[in-house]
Amino acid sequence: MQLAFPSEAETWREEVRAFLSANLPADWRGLGALDGEDAEAFSNAWRRTLAEHRMIGVTWPTEFGGRGLTKLHQVVLAEEFARAGVPIYRVADTTSIKMLGNTLIAWGTPEQQAKYMPGIVSGEATWVQGYSEPEAGSDLAGLKLRAERDGDDWVLNGQKIWTSRGMDGTGVFTLARTDSNAAKHRGISFILCELPNPGIEVRPIRTLTGDDEFCEIFYTDARVPVANTVGPVNEGWKVANSLLGLERGEEAATNPIFFRAELDRIIQLARDMGRADDPVIRDRLAWCHTKVEIMRILGYRILTQVLSEGRIGPEASISKLYWSEYHQVAADLAIELLGPNAMIREGRKPFKHFRTDEPGAANSTNSWIDVLLMNARSGTVYAGTSQVQRNILAESILGLPREPR
Ligand SMILES: Cc1cc2nc3c(=O)[nH]c(=O)nc-3n(C[C@H](O)[C@H](O)[C@H](O)COP(=O)(O)OP(=O)(O)OC[C@H]3O[C@@H](n4cnc5c(N)ncnc54)[C@H](O)[C@@H]3O)c2cc1C
Repeated sequence: MQLAFPSEAETWREEVRAFLSANLPADWRGLGALDGEDAEAFSNAWRRTLAEHRMIGVTWPTEFGGRGLTKLHQVVLAEEFARAGVPIYRVADTTSIKMLGNTLIAWGTPEQQAKYMPGIVSGEATWVQGYSEPEAGSDLAGLKLRAERDGDDWVLNGQKIWTSRGMDGTGVFTLARTDSNAAKHRGISFILCELPNPGIEVRPIRTLTGDDEFCEIFYTDARVPVANTVGPVNEGWKVANSLLGLERGEEAATNPIFFRAELDRIIQLARDMGRADDPVIRDRLAWCHTKVEIMRILGYRILTQVLSEGRIGPEASISKLYWSEYHQVAADLAIELLGPNAMIREGRKPFKHFRTDEPGAANSTNSWIDVLLMNARSGTVYAGTSQVQRNILAESILGLPREPR
């Protein structure tokens, strides 16, 4: 088994390192070492620097602001950025860049690409994902949001829910039913709805932690141009699936980098709390270490598949299941190490570019509690629940009978 990166990746690594040392202050210790307002200002300035230097979407063709590189180059970039303690983009960019940007390149018309890609690259546009509905989460194809054609417009009526960062969205990419007579997976279209729109109301949902990161979105006779349909009308399921594949698969190789950074913090936390010599804690840390290493190798396997076959297969579900279930155990260990301190939220809120707080931050209780409550727990739900991933693996990899529909 050859685990070394090829020479062109190492040449690129040198370029990325040169970019980092040219653009970060000499005494840089990681985004986490900055206070709230300074960190916010740095993040925004850093986002602009990345766009100017074509470091956003490096795998995208040059006409879309990218560099036409491979996923391997993206992984090397993520490794070097993690080492330097800087994000690869803002948290708010996840749905814009990783999901919609990649989808528009694959499925968008030249007009849609020309209109929407520049804002995605510059960060001026923030697109959020409007898929889930109160009665359609795991069973997404059961969605009921209706889009009826009226001249050159769609008229949308219905509801979406659990839209992450919906309040910050300058647009929502939405799945809507455009043919109610067709079979469940057919008759769905992928529609770009710019915000604000007089027929679209975005309402925040306050969660147990006091945050209102989620939203529900109500469509009441909302008019959106038919020209905003991405991919063929009634074939949005195909478009959405290629996008979900990206969400699940592209992370496979970069995720372990962030989990490694997090585990290093947990090990430091064990030292800080005087528990690093406790044999039970050592045993649990060793378990975490083994899991993160296996995750890294799994990531390389999926990356190799993407590079050689140009596709992300159902194996991406192995990775999703693996990291999300690992993360809950690791987060529980962090909370146990904090002990009674875990009852108090203190310090500034983490930005969560790195799964936990950014490198350079103090091991504050807030980092871990926030990760445990909001991040690790929800990891087995969003982007397909663990049960759904197991169904996919059972059917498409193990060849077990399909579950009754
Ligand atoms: C942090 C977070 C962020 C999210 N962000 C977004 C977003 O930005 N946009 C968006 O559209 N959605 C978003 N979601 C919603 C997410 O996609 C759904 O929560 C998810 O698909 C599950 O759907 P559900 O909540 O309706 O649960 P349900 O589908 O009702 O599932 C309930 C339970 O039943 C199980 N179950 C369901 N079907 C099966 C089956 N066939 N076999 C076995 N078990 C089954 C599930 O595993 C789960 O345990 C987000 C969710 C979270 C937690």
